[in-house]
Amino acid sequence: MPNLPDPSSATVLRERAEARLRPAAGVVDLPSMERTLHELRVHQIELELQNDELRRIQAELEHAQRRLVALYDEAPVGYCTMDDDGVLLEANRTLAGWLGVQAAALVGKRLSAFVDRADQDVLHLYRRAIRRPGGARDREVRLHTGRQAPLWVRLEAGPPHDALDSHAYRLALIDVTATVTARIQRQADEAALREAATFDAAVVEALAEGVVCAEPGGRVLSFNRAAQAIFGYTAAEAMGLDVSRLIPEPERARHHEQVKRNVQNGGWVGPRVWSEVHGRHKSGTVLPLSLVLTTVPRAGHPVHLAIVHDLSERQAHEAEVERLAFKDTLTGLPNRRLMMDRLQHSLAEVARSGHNGALIFFDLDHFKRLNDSRGHGMGDELLRQVASRLTEGMREVDTVARFGGDEFVVLVSELASEGSAAAIQAAGAAERIRALLREPYVLLGHRWDSTASLGIVLFDGHEADATELLRRADAAMYQAKAAGRDTLRFFDPAMQAAAAARDELEADLAEGLRSGQLALHYQVQVTLDGRIRGVEALARWTHPKRGAIGPAVFIPLAEECGLILPLGAWVLDTACKQLAAWADHPVRARWSIAVNVSALQFKEAGFAEQVTATLARHGVDPRLLQVELTESMTQQDVALTVSHMAALRALGVQCALDDFGTGLSSLSRLERLPLDELKIDQAFIRDLLTQPQHGVIVHTIVELGHGLGLTVVAEGVELEAQRAFLVAAGCDVLQGYLFGRPVPAEALQ
Ligand code: C2E
Ligand code: MG
Ligand code: MG
Repeated sequence: MPNLPDPSSATVLRERAEARLRPAAGVVDLPSMERTLHELRVHQIELELQNDELRRIQAELEHAQRRLVALYDEAPVGYCTMDDDGVLLEANRTLAGWLGVQAAALVGKRLSAFVDRADQDVLHLYRRAIRRPGGARDREVRLHTGRQAPLWVRLEAGPPHDALDSHAYRLALIDVTATVTARIQRQADEAALREAATFDAAVVEALAEGVVCAEPGGRVLSFNRAAQAIFGYTAAEAMGLDVSRLIPEPERARHHEQVKRNVQNGGWVGPRVWSEVHGRHKSGTVLPLSLVLTTVPRAGHPVHLAIVHDLSERQAHEAEVERLAFKDTLTGLPNRRLMMDRLQHSLAEVARSGHNGALIFFDLDHFKRLNDSRGHGMGDELLRQVASRLTEGMREVDTVARFGGDEFVVLVSELASEGSAAAIQAAGAAERIRALLREPYVLLGHRWDSTASLGIVLFDGHEADATELLRRADAAMYQAKAAGRDTLRFFDPAMQAAAAARDELEADLAEGLRSGQLALHYQVQVTLDGRIRGVEALARWTHPKRGAIGPAVFIPLAEECGLILPLGAWVLDTACKQLAAWADHPVRARWSIAVNVSALQFKEAGFAEQVTATLARHGVDPRLLQVELTESMTQQDVALTVSHMAALRALGVQCALDDFGTGLSSLSRLERLPLDELKIDQAFIRDLLTQPQHGVIVHTIVELGHGLGLTVVAEGVELEAQRAFLVAAGCDVLQGYLFGRPVPAEALQ
């Protein structure tokens, strides 16, 4: 704004000039009048100058006003002021131009007169909203203009006009025709798409195939009834759903990529078929599907059309066909075909691994009698029960098959690599089957007893083919029948002999234990100063016909058939009896006896109680008893082993770890065991002088044992040089032929 002079200054000056012109009472002072005249003239000039300035400012103001009016009038936005009744109080030229009238002509007219009939309500509500505290939300209405097409304007209310009364409002009308028409077009396109997608809806609904239609972005546009059944979504739920939800997570990316690539390549000419796809049911389960995917143009846009077929049923059917081809229908066991297949594999496997396998062929004795006397229904029931006993009773790695009628075959794998040991294991498996099948049956309320005859053939993969093996097992079964049924026979006479000898020996051992053929021998253990600190008890068996049989033979046998429990109890009892007998001896009263304990014994729940009872029965000091465990025993259930050892040590009994160094003990486990002694395995002592690394191992074990606070014992000491080495290495106790062989108590020196 220009600088305005103080409006009061002119008046003040004039008043001052007039006062000077007025003569003082009665005196006319000429020179002073001239001065005053001069001043007045000067002043007049000043006033004229000020007038010029005022005119200039006036002109500037008028120019600024014209500019403002032009801005207001020619803005690209329509402006108007309106009273409460919607009557226009003024309008700018832009608005007037839109409406095809002079701005002045608009004054006194209602805005609604120019608004499309369809938008009258919008305008009405808008005007009412303006009055409310929060004001009105911007609205869009169509204005009828001089042009043919209506103009879309957005209404934006300004603040009340301060120069007018508070019932007048300013309104800006912004041309939004371009955006609104684009939006309307888009909505129309979408509607057209939707319509296109639902085109022929009745036909699509009736299809047995699931039909899913999706817009390019992947949103579902339609979802027919079959699709609802396949995916578990209702049509309403599926609408707008992202199609990727119908694909299992791992396949989504691949699917998406494929679709994208096809679209980029100009879409499909014809349908694309993916047969191996998966769908995702609403519940999350994955379904096998066949899929035909095609893109069709609809209202100028590509629309994806997926036609899906649920393959679950077909696959289940195929599985059933397969089951029928490989499984016996009556029992559900593998049939001959599957067994032959497994046998082929097994032959290759044993040839590679060096293990043995066995085929056990058997049938039920006198099965025909049951069928003839009680009917086939009973026969079938027996076969079913036999099958379920076999499935439950055999290891999972073994295959149990029904060959038809009452014939069954069991394929036993992973047997020992050594022939006679494998024969013993196979005989054991066959025995288990025989025992399983001998248990009485209840068939439709009736008790039935049955037995089986079994033929066994061993294989190591280098013999004749599968069919020949089966023939041999079958032949062996006929020998079992000929031998009076309810028994087993090997195809190979040597195997037969081994198995028979084992059976015999087992029976003899049981008898030997009962009739006192077993004895305990004792081998002394000496300390470094040459004093005997105790003995180790070692079991001996004198067979009435075969003479002395070593523990290396009969202990494993006893372990296999469970005889080790009574045998172990006998050893413990005999050793305690011996301790009691020495109790009054001046020197031997201080000797300890070490007994060897088998894994099976040690695992028995009441082992500690058995030891307590035996010690008590003979009135023996528990500190004189030592138990020797092997590394392998401590490797199975460490927690249980530790608790049993702790229970024994709580009694005062000593614990030693026998044959240490061969069982690949983990050192952390060793540390956890509550031990008193380590016995270095004989193997290291034997070659001590010839194999330097054994010397290193001995040193290491001694150091380790001492580090853990244990006594270290060396056994199998035969030579003076060995003794010297062990003494130098720091062993605490020595045992071996050098000091004495295991002998009966009476023979001890
Ligand atoms: P082990 O407990 O390591 O017993 C030491 C074996 O070494 C004994 O063999 C003993 O006769 C032998 N031996 C001792 N000094 C020498 C020597 O200087 N040179 C040589 N070459 N050998 C020596 P044995 O009596 O044949 O016992 C073999 C294994 O049978 C024992 O090994 C033990 O594991 C087991 N055993 C023996 N008696 C029993 C028993 O009553 N119960 C249990 N569960 N196992 C027993
Ligand atoms: Mg021992
Ligand atoms: Mg030993």
